[in-house]
Parts: sequence; structure tokens; C-alpha cells
Amino acid sequence: MKNYKIGTKCVQGGYRPGNGEPRQIPIIQSTTFKYDTGDAMGKLFDLEASGYFYTRLQNPTSDSVAAKICEMEGGSAAMLTSSGMAASFLAVFNICSCGDHFISSSAIYGGTYNLFSVTLKRMGIDVTFVSPDCSEEELQAAFRSNTKLVFGETIANPALKVLDIEKFAKIAHANGVPLIIDNTFPTPVNCRPFEFGADIVTHATTKYMDGHGSAVGGAIVDSGNFDWMAHAEKFPGLCTPDESYHGITYAERFGKEGAYITKATAQLMRDLGVTPAPMNSFLLNLGLESLHVRMKQHCANGLAVAEYLEKHPKVAWVNYPGLPTSPDYALTQKYMPNGTCGVVSFGVKGGREAAAKFMENLKIIAIETHVADARSCCLHPATTTHRQLSDADLIAAGVGPDLIRVSLGLEDTADLIADVEQALANV
Ligand SMILES: *Cc1c(COP(=O)(O)O)cnc(C)c1O
Repeated sequence: MKNYKIGTKCVQGGYRPGNGEPRQIPIIQSTTFKYDTGDAMGKLFDLEASGYFYTRLQNPTSDSVAAKICEMEGGSAAMLTSSGMAASFLAVFNICSCGDHFISSSAIYGGTYNLFSVTLKRMGIDVTFVSPDCSEEELQAAFRSNTKLVFGETIANPALKVLDIEKFAKIAHANGVPLIIDNTFPTPVNCRPFEFGADIVTHATTKYMDGHGSAVGGAIVDSGNFDWMAHAEKFPGLCTPDESYHGITYAERFGKEGAYITKATAQLMRDLGVTPAPMNSFLLNLGLESLHVRMKQHCANGLAVAEYLEKHPKVAWVNYPGLPTSPDYALTQKYMPNGTCGVVSFGVKGGREAAAKFMENLKIIAIETHVADARSCCLHPATTTHRQLSDADLIAAGVGPDLIRVSLGLEDTADLIADVEQALANV
């Protein structure tokens, strides 16, 4: 699949049926797998042979879909997880332990921000947040002797900030650590972070990849480019024997291409069990088959609505990375020349009350805590997810009282604009 374009990988990647085998990925809804001898199964436990023995670790349906996402990102190995949060957690925890430190862009998904600043802290892992707009010197100043990785989002949810991936990769590599990128919003259709120096990519497949609001899920993809052994003192989990796994040294046995994902599967999936259901992996694959076609429409609707809002007298401001007036437009042109995503945020003049009225007036754009669905939806953080905060606290959190986030779906563009138009007319 390597030499095919992204659209072909979306449709046919990952699964190559043999003669007389099912055309569609089979749903292997089985927790376990049968063997003729204990010895044959023992070889799997020792990671000497590859095969399946228990779905908590690996399942053929999920592996086929992981292989497709791996091909789409241009990686060397990949795995699926039960949610996007599980993917972010495993991606960091695979190389950070108690006493370690890492650096993250401050413009990231709220759930991830909480995972990093509260839950990982309770596990003894420290984070320093930096602005995505920081200079190379500011980023460098955040490093400590125990820093193990740098993390950011290609397009941050919900701030819609675009990350300068090359700048972050350059400073991470100068300090001997990998760059992990959450590529949920653009998907590999619109941006492939490995082409700009990122080492590991994570996804909430729940969003555009599934795209139909059907299955929560996540993915981790390794580029196979980061040389763990060249920085062995920083990564003992990959570069010294794993006593909980028969003394295997992952980076020696599986090389740059396989060590990271093999360790995350053999060790973290074994112990934490954040495994996707095979049925959900199958549903995710149905979404992936049309991802390249759907992203075009999400982006066209996002841009059309952003352009309409920008000209409207009742609208105070609009934030969409694909708008030429966006402060991130130069980064957008570099990293996502074919489109960004379908999420737009904006403020209605009149603050909290005007925003609430606008939302109530909408007829086809529904009020939901979700984004990246085939059906358009919107959220007013000040009256929902962030309703306990005062106006001053909201502004400090980067979600002002007037902020409305709209996720444009796959409906007809003219109908979406008409819905926004009538909702604004009655504010
Ligand atoms: C939704 C989201 C997540 C979390 O994914 P879940 O599947 O909800 O756990 C992580 N990162 C980003 C950018 C997201 O939008």
C-alpha cells in the first residue's frame, strides 16, 4: 500500500484477503484462540512467534484496522485502544515513569490537559505546559534532565490553534526525546505529522475517523524513526530487560520500527486492558473507508460557515484555521494545504445571553458535547461544560462567555448557512 495515495489507503489499507477469503474485514468476536499444544502457545507468550491468544492483548479485527491507520500515517507499527484518552495515556506512560517529566503544548483537549496535570501528577509524572506559540528558546528552557517527551495537537480542540510541528520536533530531537502528536482533528487525510518530524501519533478515532458518532476509540502509531538505543539512558523501559516479560529488551529484539508498539501491547495492554471491542474496530473501519471523501465536505462546510460568520454584523469574532484572516493561516498553508477540519468557533455580540439564544434558535445544528460527526452540532461552553466558571475564569481558560463551538457535519452547505442565518436573525 506504501506507494498508493491516501484515498486508496483509506479504502483498501490494512487488510489483504487471500483467495476465497471475506472481502470485508471479518469481526472476530472471540476472547480467546485455540492451540494444539501448550508449547505452540508458549512461543506466543515468549513473543517468539506472532499470533493471537487473548483479545485483551491483540485481536485480528482490531489489528487489521490498526494496520490501515498505520499505512495512512506512513508509520511502522500501530495499535488501537478503547478510547482517545486511553491512546494519550498509553503513549505517554509507555516511556514515562514515576519521577519523570515531559513537556506539552498548553493548547490541547481538556480531557488530556486534566490527565496530564492531575492524574499523571498523582502517578509521580510531572508536566510543564508551554504556549504553542513559544519561541525555540522558551521551549528549550522547559527541558530538565528527566524530560522524556514533548506532546502537542496538530489542531487543538477546542482552541483550534495550529502547532508548528517542525519547531517542536527540532527542539525535542536536540534534547534526545521524541515528539508525540495528537492528530485527531486533521486526520492523516489532511496532515501526516511524520512528514514533519513527529515520532509518534495518537488519535481519538471517536471523531472524524469513525465520523458517525458510533464508537469511542483511539489509536497510537509509531513512525519507527526514533532511535531509542541512541538515548538508552533515558528510556530504560525500552532499552533494558523487562523482567515482567521474560527479560526481553524491546529495542534490541524489535528494533526502532517495532519496540514502542510491542512494549505498549505486551506490557500496558496486558496490565491495563484498555482494549477496543472487535465490533467497534469493525465500525471504525467503515468510517475509515470514506474518510477522505467526508473530510472534503467537513472542510468545505467549515470554511463556508466561517466565511459567512466573518461578514455577519452580529458576530464579534471568528476562529477557523482555514480562514486567511486567522493568525495561524501561514502554519495552515504549510501543514494542511488541502484543508483543516470542520470545527469553527466564534462569538455572538451580546455575550452569554446572545449565545444561548442563538443556540436555541438552531434547527438542524444540534446542541451536543461532540465534534467531528456526520451531523452538525454545537456547544456553548459557558452554559454547559464550563457553567461553574465566572466570566473572568472563562476568559482565563480561553473560552470566553460568548464562545460557541460549531462542528460542521456532512449536510448541504446552503442548509447549514441558512440555519445559522435564521438563528442569528432572531438573536
Ligand atoms: C475527543 C478527543 C480526545 C479524547 O478522545 P475520547 O475518545 O473521547 O477518549 C483526545 N484528543 C482530542 C484532540 C480529542 O478531540
